[in-house]
Amino acid sequence: MHEVQEAPLTAHERGEAAVAVLLESLGYDVESERLRATPARVAATLASLVRREPLPPVTLIDAEGYDGPIVLRDIPFHSLCEHHLLPFRGVAHVGYRPADRVAGLSTLARVVEYFARDLQLQERMTADIADWVERELEPRGVGVAIDAEHLCMSMRGVGTPGTRARTEIFRGAFSRSDIEMQERVP
Ligand SMILES: [Zn+2]
Repeated sequence: MHEVQEAPLTAHERGEAAVAVLLESLGYDVESERLRATPARVAATLASLVRREPLPPVTLIDAEGYDGPIVLRDIPFHSLCEHHLLPFRGVAHVGYRPADRVAGLSTLARVVEYFARDLQLQERMTADIADWVERELEPRGVGVAIDAEHLCMSMRGVGTPGTRARTEIFRGAFSRSDIEMQERVP
C-alpha cells in the first residue's frame, strides 16, 4: 500500500481559496450560484493587474545640442493601492533635462506603466519613476509629478469623488516650472 499524495495547491488555487474565505468572512455564501465563480475571477484579475513584463533596454540617442527640458505630460495610468487593494488612477508627468543623450518619448510612458503594475503607493511610484530616469538616462535633472484619485479614499467618503492627490519629485537641474511651463503651451 502506498499513500496517495495530494499535489500541493498552486499559487492561483491558494489565492482563489483565500478570496472565498474573505467573502465568507463578510457574510457571503460562496457556494451560491451568483458567487460561485467569483473567487477564481478575483484571484485571476488581481494576478493579471500586478503581472508585468521586464522593461526593454533603453536606446539612447544623441541630444544634438538640445539641453532644454523634455516633458511627457498626462500619461494615464491605473494602479492598486497596497494598503487597501483598491485602484488609484490618474496621470503622471515625467520630465528630464538631458546631459547629452535622450530616450524616445514612448519610453517614459512605458516606465510609468511598468511601475503602475504593482501593489503601489503613489509616493513610492513617483520615486520609482524618478530613480529609473536618473539611473538610465543620467540626465542633468529629473522631475516627476503624479495626480491621482484613490478609490480607497473616495469610496469611503474621505474627500469627495474626484479629489486628487499630487506627489512630485524634482532633482538636479529640473524644477516645477519646467513641467508647468509646458501646461501653458497650447
Ligand atoms: Zn489605499
